[in-house]
Amino acid sequence: MGEFCTHAADAPPLPGAYVLAVELAAPLAVTLPNRPAASLGPGHYLYCGSARGPGGLRARLSRHMRRGKTIRWHIDRLTETGAVLGAWFFPGGDECELVATLSSLPVPIAGFGSTDCARCRSHLLQWPGGATSAIDTLTLHFAYSLWIKNQDGLRPVRDGKLLRRLP
Ligand SMILES: [Zn+2]
Repeated sequence: MGEFCTHAADAPPLPGAYVLAVELAAPLAVTLPNRPAASLGPGHYLYCGSARGPGGLRARLSRHMRRGKTIRWHIDRLTETGAVLGAWFFPGGDECELVATLSSLPVPIAGFGSTDCARCRSHLLQWPGGATSAIDTLTLHFAYSLWIKNQDGLRPVRDGKLLRRLP
């Protein structure tokens, strides 16, 4: 649970949720339906998604990490333009719960990846630091959130307490 992988083959073919880390080197214009034109600046982004179809997490992460895919979702623009650094995967997990544990991070564009979601402002969050700090800090953060969750009778953790203390 909450393990980081850089190759989709290391994720299990099970249903679940994931957080994809993407690095953008140049600005990317993003137009969402019925929203003003927006743009993502260079930096690091975290996208929370879920995989429930055949092949589960492995198949979905493999799609995200592959170049030359047909643009189908908002995140496809980002993974085609930027570099996918890897992903944390959570078999049996829920994408909106992952967004909730990252709620202290800035939302770069409201509605990104969450058009069908009534709960989250966005499924894309911005990581203000560098890639190495994201991977180390978030791996700890997810481990901590899940530990709290298990201590707390499996209630979703809504505030990333460990994360709040960090930049
Ligand atoms: Zn959501």
